[in-house]
Amino acid sequence: MKSRPGWNFDNSYAKLPPIFYTKQKPEPVASPKLVMFNESLAEELNLHPGALQSEKGAAIFAGKDVPEGAEPIAQAYAGHQFGHFTMLGDGRAILLGEHVAPGNRRVDIQLKGAGRTPYSRGGDGRAALGPMLREYIISEAMHALGIPTTRSLAVAATGERVIRERVLPGAVLTRVASSHIRVGTFEFARQFGSKEDLRALCDYTIGRHFPHLLNAKNPPLALLEEVIRKQASLIAKWQLAGFVHGVMNTDNMAISGETIDYGPCAFMDRYNPETVFSSIDVYGRYAYGNQPKIGGWNLARFAEALLPIIDENKEKAVRLAQEALAEYPEIYVSFYLGGMRKKLGLFDEKEEDGALIQELLQLMQEHKQDYTNTFRALTLQKFEEPFFQTAEFREWHLRYLARIKYQHPAETEELMKRHNPAVIPRNHRVEEALEAAVERGDLSLMKKLLAVLSDPYAYSAEQEEYCTLPEHPDEPYITYCGT
Ligand code: AMP
Ligand code: MG
Ligand code: MG
Repeated sequence: MKSRPGWNFDNSYAKLPPIFYTKQKPEPVASPKLVMFNESLAEELNLHPGALQSEKGAAIFAGKDVPEGAEPIAQAYAGHQFGHFTMLGDGRAILLGEHVAPGNRRVDIQLKGAGRTPYSRGGDGRAALGPMLREYIISEAMHALGIPTTRSLAVAATGERVIRERVLPGAVLTRVASSHIRVGTFEFARQFGSKEDLRALCDYTIGRHFPHLLNAKNPPLALLEEVIRKQASLIAKWQLAGFVHGVMNTDNMAISGETIDYGPCAFMDRYNPETVFSSIDVYGRYAYGNQPKIGGWNLARFAEALLPIIDENKEKAVRLAQEALAEYPEIYVSFYLGGMRKKLGLFDEKEEDGALIQELLQLMQEHKQDYTNTFRALTLQKFEEPFFQTAEFREWHLRYLARIKYQHPAETEELMKRHNPAVIPRNHRVEEALEAAVERGDLSLMKKLLAVLSDPYAYSAEQEEYCTLPEHPDEPYITYCGT
């Protein structure tokens, strides 16, 4: 039987050694107002949507009131930012606690933008409405695409202003995550904690996320291997969807394998591995085409953090970690190729598939073709664009048709429709929705966009208008961190 809807906090993270967090209440705000509320997620979590869509709910989601059973903390973590190690921590996020939903599903309920903490350094602890709504849109779109991600439960306006390059309305996002344990949490333990602290974090992480590893011969090594698989799978899904995370620092890499930290991320329109959106990523470290390699780099930092508990013997620990890391490229490629075969509607595996895929991507790049729409056209067999009339594409297409010749066309189409989204959160549509919401208080565009993005594989008539490309495709789209 389902228990009565409502908060059901059980805060296991606060039982870790004290260096991992600081007790910290959200800073109260002037006048909370609920801007967005995710009813279906609330229901899934056995919360009480009716009771939360109220003044009381707004006060909770803006960080003014603390719900019963919550034990607010700011988490400590470190991380490599653009390759450089730094102490970080929740500078503007407060973990209210863990809510236990039906099926014993444990989720972190975190308020992002809830005020200063001991880890805020120079920051104000606050967030602006536009970026929080943006996180809401993109994270929900990612979820609907089938990509593991943190979710967005609510956005509440604070009634206060935040000062960035401009003065902006403030807001708090309620983020739901299977946890906020990061590669950076392990780096923090390794750098600033004792071996016992590191072991406690490792045991806790295994117990929370990978209980099947509890009896492994070498649990820390088994954790490393599992996280390698999870990250390889996640990053393959990003690549397949054309998603650019934009700030793959090790503190933004969740051990659970969920996408976390929606700051400068965006979806690529035209296929180009060099695609970068982030204003600060001047060298393209986190460009689309670099993401798989950076995933490997981050995993190496994770392995380093685990070394002292992988084996007492340092050389042996390094060898075991290196053997595990050496598997990553192959694991990644198998996830990526597997996903690409589905995008092309291939039911079986042939040696030449890799080349077939590469050549299609190459053609897309040379002809500046839209990534999502090219796969959509192949799915629908609607070849109206001039690109599809070119000799190069036709030559490729003949080989592709020969490859699928013995498959049932209806089955091929069905497979392709399940793996090629008709819609993605296109930058110009996201911006248009955010502008209406923030500048004019008009949420209708955002709600319509969210509805369309909630079933990206529907291929419905309402989605057609969301497939169009920006009017000025050559204008660069620029995103920002930390706003
Ligand atoms: P990010 O680039 O989003 O991963 O953030 C990096 C670090 O900066 C994290 O420790 C954040 O908590 C912190 N941070 C970002 N924005 C703020 C802010 N407005 N006030 C305090 N800390 C912040
Ligand atoms: Mg972050
Ligand atoms: Mg961020």
